[in-house]
Amino acid sequence: MELIEKGNYKLPDWSMEARCTGKGWEQKQKPCYSKWKLEDGDIVKRKNSDGEVYYGFICPDCHCFTQLEEKELPTNVKEYCLQVAAKGSNHYVTLTEEEKKLSEVL
Ligand SMILES: [Zn+2]
Repeated sequence: MELIEKGNYKLPDWSMEARCTGKGWEQKQKPCYSKWKLEDGDIVKRKNSDGEVYYGFICPDCHCFTQLEEKELPTNVKEYCLQVAAKGSNHYVTLTEEEKKLSEVL
């Protein structure tokens, strides 16, 4: 058998533009309203206390979480994104080290 192309969850040609608005729920940061080009690795998810999942990104400038419309995100991007949680939330303890680091700023 010969490998034609290595499978990869990443979609190198997927990107979207979004503005940092802080849309979502309570967080420490104030949004900066900068516009960003997002790629698959930039998308993270958060769970609320009811276990409902929201997708979004963390602004590299002001560290605000901004929620994105779920229908705008490809399935692969949603499946493999890291989870973040506001510090002190019920879900915080279940995060990996990398996810905790991302969550520290929220
Ligand atoms: Zn921002």
